[in-house]
Amino acid sequence: MIPILDLKRQYKTIEDKVKDMLQEIVESQSFVLGKEVEKIEENISRYCGTKFAVGVASGTDALILSLAAMGIGKGDEVITTPFTFTATAEAIVHAGAKPVFVDIDPKTYNINPALIEKKITKRTKAILPVHLYGLCADMDPILKIREKHGLKVLEDCAQAIGSKYKGRATGSMGDGGAISFYPGKNLGCFGDGGMVVTNDKKIYDNMRLLRNHGSDKRYYHKAIGYNSRLDNLQAAILNIKLSHLDGWIENRIKIAEFFTKELKNFPIQTPYTPPDYKHSFHLYVLRTSPAVEIINYLAAKGIESRTYYPVSLHLQECFNFLGYKRGDFPESEKLSQGSFAIPIYPELTLKEKTYIVDTIKQFLNKTFTTLKIKNENHFFIR
Ligand SMILES: *Cc1c(COP(=O)(O)O)cnc(C)c1O
Repeated sequence: MIPILDLKRQYKTIEDKVKDMLQEIVESQSFVLGKEVEKIEENISRYCGTKFAVGVASGTDALILSLAAMGIGKGDEVITTPFTFTATAEAIVHAGAKPVFVDIDPKTYNINPALIEKKITKRTKAILPVHLYGLCADMDPILKIREKHGLKVLEDCAQAIGSKYKGRATGSMGDGGAISFYPGKNLGCFGDGGMVVTNDKKIYDNMRLLRNHGSDKRYYHKAIGYNSRLDNLQAAILNIKLSHLDGWIENRIKIAEFFTKELKNFPIQTPYTPPDYKHSFHLYVLRTSPAVEIINYLAAKGIESRTYYPVSLHLQECFNFLGYKRGDFPESEKLSQGSFAIPIYPELTLKEKTYIVDTIKQFLNKTFTTLKIKNENHFFIR
């Protein structure tokens, strides 16, 4: 079985360093915040090209706390995409604000900037683009709207540390960026962890207070805060892994290029990377409708694949209260039914990669009679 993700393989490559480090930290008995946390904050802010970084307990908390640190709360609206993990919109609700969805671009799967301005009201305070699967949202038009309407922009970088947009790193383009270190992300720790990067000193100061019970001096509390700190152990693991991250991403890109080249003449849509974007391929997502048959076929052949995400957020039970209905975001709905991710972790062997594409080709050859009408390099499926 080729699992969708196999973290044991990655662990093997860093095992010795991790064991030494664990020993050291356990002996120091310094667990909450601490010197490894300061070090990873420095390292990540340098990596992202921002002035500041604040470690928190998860990517979800990074979103919630940075919205709060930007002063967003009750009565405010935040514009985001319905095609993302639930945490993006959940965080807006936890911050006290209302998520307002805007449909995605059918090529990049990210929020469609051309549809944003129609949704701006007097209550709109921020835009929360998600860099989905490791591909940056189209930030220039979003930043233009930010200027024009005096909004904040918070980047959801949970899936996109190491990605670039026209030379700029994720998290450095908006007012802040929220990163997740959930184990399955491209840079994952051994449990939950997250970070906010920003160039804004005020957001940074607020974040520092909020993550630690509103306190910057022991037992003196300026604000109602949270208990949302990064553990020293998690930070130490991240410091070890960060030095491997760019190499891992390069491998992911190479695997993606292999898949895309192999599937080029087959009736299935491979991921699109616009010019001057660096995709970090957290996920390699193929588009075909419906996706369920090929997912089952691959499973029967020992390859795990999965739809991220099978339900657009506006149709999730938990967001019923927002009053959306089927048909409101057609691109997002279509994609949720007709896409699936295949394994793309950097440790995949050549044999596995080849087996994965060969099995996909087998399915496509069996299932479709292709009518190859060549039109701008697209094949139409009958
Ligand atoms: C993983 C993820 C989050 C949440 O991060 P956690 O660390 O799991 O809390 C938020 N947004 C997106 C797009 C994610 O993929």
